Amino acid sequence: MTDPIWFDPSLCLIGGTWQAAAGGTLTLVNPSDGTEICRIARGGPADVEAAVKAAQAARDGAWGRMTALERGRILTRMGQLVQERAETLATLEAMDVGKPLTQARADALALARYCEFYGGAADKVTGETIPYLDGYTVYTLREPHGVTGHIVPWNYPMQIIGRSVGAALAMGNACVLKPAEEACLTALAFAHLAAEAGLPAGALNVVPGLGAEAGAALAGHPGVQHISFTGSVATGAQVAQAAGRNVVPVTLELGGKSPQLVFDDADLDAALPFLVNAGIQNAGQTCSASSRILAQRGIYDQVKARMVEAYGQLTVGPAAEDLRLGPLISERQKEIVEGFLARGADLTVAAQGQIVDHAPRTGAYVRPTLFADVPPDHVLARNEIFGPVQVLIPFDTEDEAVAIANGTDYGLVASLWTRDGARQMRLAKRLRAGQVFINNYGAGGGVELPFGGVGKSGHGREKGFEALYGFSQLKTVAAHHG
Ligand code: NAD
Repeated sequence: MTDPIWFDPSLCLIGGTWQAAAGGTLTLVNPSDGTEICRIARGGPADVEAAVKAAQAARDGAWGRMTALERGRILTRMGQLVQERAETLATLEAMDVGKPLTQARADALALARYCEFYGGAADKVTGETIPYLDGYTVYTLREPHGVTGHIVPWNYPMQIIGRSVGAALAMGNACVLKPAEEACLTALAFAHLAAEAGLPAGALNVVPGLGAEAGAALAGHPGVQHISFTGSVATGAQVAQAAGRNVVPVTLELGGKSPQLVFDDADLDAALPFLVNAGIQNAGQTCSASSRILAQRGIYDQVKARMVEAYGQLTVGPAAEDLRLGPLISERQKEIVEGFLARGADLTVAAQGQIVDHAPRTGAYVRPTLFADVPPDHVLARNEIFGPVQVLIPFDTEDEAVAIANGTDYGLVASLWTRDGARQMRLAKRLRAGQVFINNYGAGGGVELPFGGVGKSGHGREKGFEALYGFSQLKTVAAHHG
């Protein structure tokens, strides 16, 4: 097989030039077997400084002068190139993140779709005219922030780059992207494709590196006018503090403990694939993972029996084998998840999937685990585990279900399974979440659907048209003409 890494992965992209980072390189590890994939740049403050300057120059230069239509066409071409190279991008993502190829392919196509969506939307963002005093004409303009920083985690690099960089570019911002140190190959590949599509130098700069070095330098840089961060609550709070010192707005997407509520009248055949898959997709390392299943007492035993059966068919192994689950991202993440499993020693393990016998011992594999009859206040029912672990919780009444569903610090996604239309409408309002799904979960990937959290899940919205408002600022123009 030809090497899918067709570029030099050890470099940063600054102002259209691929160059070595001041801090040298870091090792990138394949979580399926623990081997070294390649060396990547260890960017730091000096590289971030150069990248922000290059972005400012792009804003003041060719990129800043482009019309919305031209920006949109470039994004659309980027999407076409991503689509053409989807298989290579999927291979890179599978190797880097450890995700099964089918999921990696879906991520590549989602990246293409984000470019297509934001390419088409770029020239559709309009202001408004406002009736005002006699002799005045008042209107609003949507303008880019300027330089935007994008700090991206390792779990869905392509999707998260698509939704944040795609929307920021559509509005005419110049971006500095800091991918995660655990997985950054597709960020680099995407930047190569963007240049091929005609994106001017400096409109997208990429500085890989450690969070405490490149990430912290970007979050606190006074030349950055907006930060988009996806990752953990603790790091998100640090990023917000750093940006706050420069009075810079921040979009925070910080994960969750998202519930699915299954009522006695639910269509269980329809629900079952979503109940399981939303918990184990990407080995549970998904911010919108559904890690809590709340089932009403009358259907509880059926839900449990069907989920146990489904867990019995889950297999875990190397990403390239394209099983239901791959490894976790790293040994460190495996230790975190195993730590949580140990804290569930007092609970009933209802079912576990299997790791295939030939999976390398040096890979970061854990068995997907379903706990049943879990008290809602248990540590496993309240904390984001970021691994393939689900808890099954019984409830009696609608009020009780809402109280449990809303009873964590998070509020990213929730879903309800019921045929009762009035209940659907009632609960869609009562559930504390940025997205509520009725008789589905995560419908089709949701490029078009505004996404973000409440509480410790963060604030601000990405995806859909709404993101374009977040990546721009409103100017009010009041003209007095008598
Ligand atoms: P993290 O939040 O530390 O890292 C996410 C990104 O932030 C990475 O690019 C990282 O380099 C960068 N970063 C780290 N420290 C930084 C700093 N001080 N300033 C600026 N940027 C910084 O997440 P992690 O260590 O990769 O994972 C730890 C936990 O975070 C996981 O167990 C999981 O619970 C959670 N997580 C959530 C998501 C999500 O999508 N919500 C994604 C990844 C991880």
